[in-house]
Amino acid sequence: MESRTYDIIIVGGGHAGCEAAAAAANLGSKTLLITMDMTKFAQMSCNPAMGGVAKGQIVREIDALGGYSGLVSDYSAVQFRMLNRSKGPAMWSPRTQNDRTLFTLKWREMLEHTDNLSFWQDSVTSLWMEGDRLKGVETSLGLRFRSKCVVLTSGTFMNGLIHVGPKMLGGGRMGEKASTGITEQLLGLGFESGRMKTGTPPRMDGRSLDYTKMEVQVGDKDPFKFSFLGPVRLRDQLNCHITYTDPQVHEVIAESIDQSPMYNGQIDSVGPRYCPSIEDKIHRFADKSRHQIFVEPEGWNTHEVYVNGFSTSLPFEVQEKAIRMISGFENAVMFRPGYAIEYDYFPPTQLKMSLETKLVDGLFFAGQINGTTGYEEAAAQGLMAGINAHRVVTDQEALVLTRKDAYIGVLIDDLITKGTDEPYRMFTSRAEYRITLRQDSAAERLTPIGHAIGLASDERLRALTKHTAQRDAVIKALNKYAITPEEANGYLEEQGSKPINQQVKIATVLTRPNVATEELIKLADDYVTHMDDKVISREAIESAEIILKYEGYLRRENEMAQKMLNMDRMKIPTDFDYRAHAAISFESRDKLSQVRPENLGQASRIPGVKPVDISVLMVAIERSVSHET
Ligand SMILES: Cc1cc2nc3c(=O)[nH]c(=O)nc-3n(C[C@H](O)[C@H](O)[C@H](O)COP(=O)(O)OP(=O)(O)OC[C@H]3O[C@@H](n4cnc5c(N)ncnc54)[C@H](O)[C@@H]3O)c2cc1C
Repeated sequence: MESRTYDIIIVGGGHAGCEAAAAAANLGSKTLLITMDMTKFAQMSCNPAMGGVAKGQIVREIDALGGYSGLVSDYSAVQFRMLNRSKGPAMWSPRTQNDRTLFTLKWREMLEHTDNLSFWQDSVTSLWMEGDRLKGVETSLGLRFRSKCVVLTSGTFMNGLIHVGPKMLGGGRMGEKASTGITEQLLGLGFESGRMKTGTPPRMDGRSLDYTKMEVQVGDKDPFKFSFLGPVRLRDQLNCHITYTDPQVHEVIAESIDQSPMYNGQIDSVGPRYCPSIEDKIHRFADKSRHQIFVEPEGWNTHEVYVNGFSTSLPFEVQEKAIRMISGFENAVMFRPGYAIEYDYFPPTQLKMSLETKLVDGLFFAGQINGTTGYEEAAAQGLMAGINAHRVVTDQEALVLTRKDAYIGVLIDDLITKGTDEPYRMFTSRAEYRITLRQDSAAERLTPIGHAIGLASDERLRALTKHTAQRDAVIKALNKYAITPEEANGYLEEQGSKPINQQVKIATVLTRPNVATEELIKLADDYVTHMDDKVISREAIESAEIILKYEGYLRRENEMAQKMLNMDRMKIPTDFDYRAHAAISFESRDKLSQVRPENLGQASRIPGVKPVDISVLMVAIERSVSHET
């Protein structure tokens, strides 16, 4: 048994499990990752891409803290794009298209080179409990593994049920077994569970598509990366393509809608509203004559392509008939059909902010099991659960990121405080401080935290220090050096911006919309003479520009955040009896007793808790604390 004793066991090698395992082991805990299939680490179950709006910020945050998702994404990228460049910088979002196979292989390589981390390929069938105390896990081979903490990251596998038209198969993903037994045990321990669903589109043989009928979507000319560390920037990139459905396609789908498990009652669980199936889109947006389809390559060395926007659980024959009506898909040959999957999740209000369950000490949940959807959301939770399991093992206080620190803080606070009754994905609109939580500021916000807890390396901190020093030097220079009308006006006119009629500081012109620092500084002799641009990174110039342009907004967000932080700092005693405080409304007492918030800020964000009750609660907490001391 000694050889099967660990500090932390991670169940499941998906995005959440891989980040959790890496974090726990890198922090020094003796960690075991048990997963059903070791050739599928961090398998991209759906689209071959990382990042995108709000999700790209999360990948940068994971990277900044010392997680692996950003590095793996950079190593396996086939295309890089900064989305939403035409909008404000809060919306700029890095995204990579990835080689699906390389992504998994790189994860495996990085995990196998992580000290303190062992692996076991098997299926966990139950938690090993003695009374209400967690002892470890039991597997399908009848083995017991002992540990102080267990992080459960079972994704879409718990009682997974796959649907392709009328066909139903038990499975966690197409071709993979479902995980059974754990849900029933957790229910017996007092947990609540629910059912959610998601779906995926068919995959095609790229050789059978006519790309000349589609629009080409190329990667950025000067691509960035997710991480300051890792490989050099991409030189060659693969193209994506865009095509559209049309009324004929819609007609075929509409005719067969009663064969879709989502419409004929075969599936009645809730799916991701923001990632609807094609049958959903046609039904809900009946007035639209076309829907966009992104045709995405699956990797460098495969013909397989992913048909983004055509997620479906219709019978195979209907999928094939409908897809062949799409322009460019007339002779399309399918590699795999689309399908839908239903699975168990556990409402996340059953967790503490650390992602440890409130019911069983040492048991953590992370990823899709908590009702989220998306690789990035899962990876972020895995990272935090891995960190916090290590902190339980080493008797340290949990690391909790606030809503001002990170999208990861917003994600976890939303889940724990509000719960979710539909698959939760991140959007920039979920964050109050989105100008602060930019993709370019992730390292500055989080690497010092990651380094202080022992996860982010010295190399990462040095890279950050170099970046901020360069950025500050650029800000100083832009405030110091001037640009003349002769230098600036040609460019300003091109940008539709008013010419200047006398020499001004570069920073003054920069605050105008449509004016880019990178372009302007090339024109300003004063700047070119004094600054050696060869040593200054594009990232530093970009960050300098954002800070100068958005100074006022950033200051305002900071002031707002300070008020929230003061409320977050006011801890609520764990045994606080809400029901004993009659001055708090009955409805608020009820909600507060259910969620049991850890601090006043969290209490104020619980849906249905009235602001007036928060003031009463604040006084009650102050009294109860002073009473105790
Ligand atoms: C068909 C399908 C469609 C999807 N569509 C979308 C989409 O459109 N948009 C989107 O954002 N996301 C989508 N997703 C979700 C996305 O794949 C997940 O959000 C993400 O992969 C969750 O990561 P995870 O680590 O929580 O779980 P997963 O990636 O599911 O990984 C779980 C891992 O745990 C292992 N495991 C499970 N149970 C056990 C056990 N008992 N013992 C040992 N190992 C176990 C599994 O083998 C697997 O490796 C889809 C997923 C599927 C399956």
